Amino acid sequence: MTQSGKWSACDGFAQPGAPHHSAGRRATSTRAAGRTAACVLAVVVASCSGEDPPRDVPLEERTPKVLLIGIDGVRVDVLAEVPTPNIDRLATTGTFTQRTRTTTPSVSGPSWSSMLTGVWPAKHGVTDNDFGGRRYDAYPGFLTRLERARPELSTFAVVDWTPLMELEGGSTAVGPEVDRRELLDGYALGWAEADARATALAIQEISSADPDAMFVYLGNPDETSHQTGSIGAPYRDAIAMADRQVGMLVDAVRARSTYGTENWLILLSTDHGRTDDGGHGGDSPVEMTTFILASGPAAAVGTVEGESFIVDVAVTALTHMGVEIDSTWQLDGRSVGLR
Ligand SMILES: [Zn+2]
Repeated sequence: MTQSGKWSACDGFAQPGAPHHSAGRRATSTRAAGRTAACVLAVVVASCSGEDPPRDVPLEERTPKVLLIGIDGVRVDVLAEVPTPNIDRLATTGTFTQRTRTTTPSVSGPSWSSMLTGVWPAKHGVTDNDFGGRRYDAYPGFLTRLERARPELSTFAVVDWTPLMELEGGSTAVGPEVDRRELLDGYALGWAEADARATALAIQEISSADPDAMFVYLGNPDETSHQTGSIGAPYRDAIAMADRQVGMLVDAVRARSTYGTENWLILLSTDHGRTDDGGHGGDSPVEMTTFILASGPAAAVGTVEGESFIVDVAVTALTHMGVEIDSTWQLDGRSVGLR
């Protein structure tokens, strides 16, 4: 876009009396003046550093999109201690709560199943990492729900913990209705390498295709803690690496040529915490407590009153995408962090 084009967009955006500013004259003119200043700043910043173009499309007219980044096994008090500038930046434009409760047991199979489906293990049937009693047919993952509600949407998922996408006998939390599914094997590739490849595949999708809803799973922090039997330096380094991968994904989103017409919600969460020796599965607070971050123009800024739950993640994603939650789905979560 040319410099004059940017100015034009700002001028139009700041016009008092535009249809979406019709209510509340005083508030409107104040907001318009504020936006004019913001636009001037935005132009200066844009011309210097290639930041976002001015946003001349009202939020309600932009295309909702969602990116869920799930990092396995991040203990919230350790997350608070590790420098994570990219996650922190997301939190400044969103809702962050570290009072989220996961499943009993605090084990990846049931926990990821609850995050992705929006129901507790009593419904989805996964109570361990064997996935024996799974009922994804009755309680599918949110990307599958999206495909059924709006088949025209483009959905994408990449995981490097294989049972989320591949199980003997079929039926997985990330099911075959998802348009593009990328499966990596963290055990075969090494977890740091697998997460790097997962990030690269997701960035390729964001940059060269037009995804509407995405799930990116990063497994290295959890596996590093298991391998070292500790929540020490290697685990913390793995969390810092995941933070950099979050930053790369968000940069790719913001670099989309159509970003100004899109309403991206970035969701970030984890499946469970862990004990000091790296284990998990019990019901102690350090194992049961997780976090939810919801960031983007549609997100409220601040935190969540009271507790939130791992089942809230899927419901938040569906709600952001404009899917009406059908009571017959029997979802256990609620939307959190949206304005
Ligand atoms: Zn896990």
